[in-house]
Amino acid sequence: MTTPHGRVDTPAFMPVGTQGAVKGATRHDLESIGAQILLSNTYHLYLRPGDDLIARRGGLHRFIAWDKPILTDSGGYQVFSLSERRTIAEDGVRFKSHLDGSSHLLTPEKATDIQAQLGSDIAMVLDECLAHPATLDETRASMQRTLRWAARARARLLELRDRTIDGVTVTNAGQAQFGIVQGGVDSALREESAHQTVALGFEAYAIGGLSVGEPIEVMYDVVAATTPHLPADRPRYLMGTGTPEDLVESVARGIDLFDCVLPTRNARNGQLFTSEGRINIKNARYAEDDRPLDPACGCYTCRTHSRAYLRHLYMADEINAATLNTLHNLCFYLDTLRRIRDAIAFGRFERFRLAFHQRLSRQSGGPGHFEPPEFSLR
Ligand SMILES: [Zn+2]
Repeated sequence: MTTPHGRVDTPAFMPVGTQGAVKGATRHDLESIGAQILLSNTYHLYLRPGDDLIARRGGLHRFIAWDKPILTDSGGYQVFSLSERRTIAEDGVRFKSHLDGSSHLLTPEKATDIQAQLGSDIAMVLDECLAHPATLDETRASMQRTLRWAARARARLLELRDRTIDGVTVTNAGQAQFGIVQGGVDSALREESAHQTVALGFEAYAIGGLSVGEPIEVMYDVVAATTPHLPADRPRYLMGTGTPEDLVESVARGIDLFDCVLPTRNARNGQLFTSEGRINIKNARYAEDDRPLDPACGCYTCRTHSRAYLRHLYMADEINAATLNTLHNLCFYLDTLRRIRDAIAFGRFERFRLAFHQRLSRQSGGPGHFEPPEFSLR
C-alpha cells in the first residue's frame, strides 16, 4: 500500500496511538520494532488539543514527529460509545465531551474536515456504529444511514480536494479516504453495503461493526462473506480486531489491514503474547524465572530482561513495566504479520496457518486462554 508518507507492506498491523501517542512507547521504540503505520483517534485529537491547533503545527505528522503513514478513524466509534452522552439524527451525532461536558455535533462533513486538518494519509468516513445484538430492521436502517453518510463524506472530501473551504486547512493533499461496510452479522446486508459503498468510489474499503461481542466464528463468517465483494486491488481493513489468531484467520479470508488496542492495553495489564502462548506476568510462578519473556523474540525487552524482573516491575507498579511490556507485545504482533507476509510470499501461508494454530493449541488451554492471576494487588 502506497501513501504520501511511504509504503506499507501488507497485511499490516497498525499500533493504536489514541491521542497522537502509543501508550508506553516512544517514536524510537516504534521504529525499533519496525512499525510502518500508526492509527490515531479523531475524537480525542479533536477535543484535545484540537484539530485547529494541530493544523497550525502543519498537521499530525509534524506535530507528533512521525513521518511514516498515519490512519485516522472518523471519531464515530468513540462518540457512539458515549451511550449516555449522545443523540443520533440524520444530520449527525450530537455528543457531550468526556473531558468537560461541552456539546458538539459530529457530522460526516465535520469528521472529514477534522481529518483533513489532521492530515492523516488515510481518513475514514463517519459510520453509524450499531450495538450488538440488533434486529435485522435496525441493522438495515443503520447500514442505509451509513451509506448516506458515506456519500456526504465522499462529496466533502472531493470538495476539499477541489477548492479551499473557509476554516479548513488541508495539511495532506494526498489524503485517501476509506469507505466502511456495515450490515451487522447478516451476509446479505453486508453484500449490499459492500456493493453500494464501492459504488461511491473510495480509495479503499474497511469492514466495520465487528468485534463488538458477536461469537468469533460469526465474525469470521461475516468477513468471509464480505471480502469477495470488495476490490482485490485495494487494501481491505478489518477495524478493531483482534487476537493474533484473529489476524491469521482474517488474512486467510482476504484482510490486509488491522488495528487493535489489545497488544498495548494487555501489556499495561501484564498480559503478554508470546510464541509459547500467553503469559500473565503477575503470576507467582514467574517470581524467580530467569528466562526471557519469549525466547523466540528479538525485541529489546526479551533481549535484556528476565521474566522475574518484569514481574517485579509489574508488582511494584513501575512505569517501566508498561513500557517494556508494550514494546514486547507490539513486537509480537508486528512479527506475526511479518511472518504472515513471508509465508504468503513463499506460497506457504496455509502451512503457516496450520502450524500457528497447532503451536497455540499445545499451550495450556489453547487459543483464547489467559492464565488466571494467582493473586492481584489491584
Ligand atoms: Zn519480546
